[in-house]
Amino acid sequence: MPSEVPFVRAVDAWRTHRRRTQVEAHPVDASGLHEIFQSSTVNALLEGVYDGAMTYEELRRHGDFGLGTFNALDGEMIAFDGAFYQVKSDGVAYPVADEQRTPFATVLFFRPELERALDAPLDYASLQTSIDRLVDGPNLFYAVRVDGHFTSVTTRSVPRQQPPYPPLEDVAKKQTVFHLENVRGTLAGFRFPDYARGLNVPGFHLHFLTEDRRAGGHVLDLHLTQGTLAIDTTARFHLELPTDPAFLHADLGHDNSEALNRAER
Ligand SMILES: [Zn+2]
Repeated sequence: MPSEVPFVRAVDAWRTHRRRTQVEAHPVDASGLHEIFQSSTVNALLEGVYDGAMTYEELRRHGDFGLGTFNALDGEMIAFDGAFYQVKSDGVAYPVADEQRTPFATVLFFRPELERALDAPLDYASLQTSIDRLVDGPNLFYAVRVDGHFTSVTTRSVPRQQPPYPPLEDVAKKQTVFHLENVRGTLAGFRFPDYARGLNVPGFHLHFLTEDRRAGGHVLDLHLTQGTLAIDTTARFHLELPTDPAFLHADLGHDNSEALNRAER
């Protein structure tokens, strides 16, 4: 019917416009979507699936910000502004090479829609409460970045493992803990919904890198003096699963909440 033609044209024009604005907003996002990209699941990591096929060259195509780990569970990964770092169990941060691989990583192209100055001192719990007050409820995905000065940040990293791999909970017992004091640096990570349990860490999961980019790790505790908070909200989550035998035959059906708390908190 001729009367439909202007409508169809309008929809086409809107689609073209939408595609163009998305591409402009996220010029390096291969998918053109503003989504979290994740390789494998946290439950697989808890079960000792520590070798993945995904290279960091490929991971970088899906985000410039995020966290994760490395094959053989060789330390903690933190990324922001397109720079990826590996904090090994010696506490030192090393730049990540393209050919390194990951068994678990979560990234996105960080384009925050909300920024706030944090002027009063905050501990980890009160930082989480402050963020929870700002976001649109507990059921979306939030990427969180804080740049600031900290009276202390307690981090950990994990030692490189040899096969046959022990579960993450056992490795975490041998983690190295670092007490960084009076440091400037960056927190980068995510707040995931409770229902994402099994796929990722429910609630907050942050990694830290000092301003001189020499140290950091998985955050266990912190005291922030002042800083800036940036939050990037998305309703899109892209999960890519491994297809190797270690993943295919891992027991991923049971509730790992207790083990997760012991391994990640
Ligand atoms: Zn971590």
